[in-house]
Amino acid sequence: MRVRFWGVRGSLPVPGQKTERYGGNTSCVEVRSAAGTRVVVDAGTGIRKLGKELGTDADAGRTDVHLLISHTHWDHIQGLPYFSPLYQRGNKLSVYARKRDDLHLHAVFASQTDDPYFPVPFAEAQAEIAFRELTDSAKFEIADVKVACARLNHPYIATAYRLTVDGASVVYVSDTAPFTDILFEDEFVERPPSPGAELPARDRQKLARMRDGVVRLCAGADLVIYDTMFTSEDYQRIPHYGHSRPSDAVDICREADARRLVLFHHAPERTDTEIDGILAETRTLAARDGGALEVMAAYEGLDVELGRG
Ligand SMILES: [Zn+2]
Ligand SMILES: [Zn+2]
Repeated sequence: MRVRFWGVRGSLPVPGQKTERYGGNTSCVEVRSAAGTRVVVDAGTGIRKLGKELGTDADAGRTDVHLLISHTHWDHIQGLPYFSPLYQRGNKLSVYARKRDDLHLHAVFASQTDDPYFPVPFAEAQAEIAFRELTDSAKFEIADVKVACARLNHPYIATAYRLTVDGASVVYVSDTAPFTDILFEDEFVERPPSPGAELPARDRQKLARMRDGVVRLCAGADLVIYDTMFTSEDYQRIPHYGHSRPSDAVDICREADARRLVLFHHAPERTDTEIDGILAETRTLAARDGGALEVMAAYEGLDVELGRG
């Protein structure tokens, strides 16, 4: 399989000289199996360019894309209205995301382009669009690709995905806070626990189960793409914003015996030079005690080949 990064940034797009090496577009990763199945994880602004590069197939209405959404915060869906295959009859798009109690997935996406936010209503998209709502630990298949899910610790909850095909596995873990200082569920946390405060036993148990689920999802994976938006300083300041540090990702990957970690969902204010520094530090951390975990930092256009084909 081939994993291609189209958008690697968190929160909002940040074009400019200081972000041009790693890229300014928000989250979007494409996984293509040797047999040609195309699964895309998240529809941040990176998906616009993917739509353009689908080229003549998309223009002729012959593309079939499966889109897994980690959660519907802006930076993970905002590129979809600019995904050109949507507007060509004959193309197919299947959208998968965690089921909410209050709103159907279709309504979440359709409202993004309601007047007065966008000129073209979602109903005008010509492609055949299907929605599939998922449970926290869903397992299913998309043609030759096996998909497994786990719940993440993020405001209003996010989903991690493991994709297995061609004898290899890639896991996408974004967005998530560590599983220690706060429990996020599907309600706004009005009063985050004060730093260092011990959580109620119920919350600690839930977090421990959630963390176990993520470690299991990453077990033996060839590639783990992880939300490492925060530095230690950021995390100390805003532990209740729902993101992890590189050290959290290294701990999970080492426990899961994963082969390679990709730092992902870079903070919008992070410059290329700062990301270089974070990558170097994280490599040192991952190599401690003879650790064999390889570490990379995601950049736009990065391609990783795994397994057969
Ligand atoms: Zn995000
Ligand atoms: Zn988010």
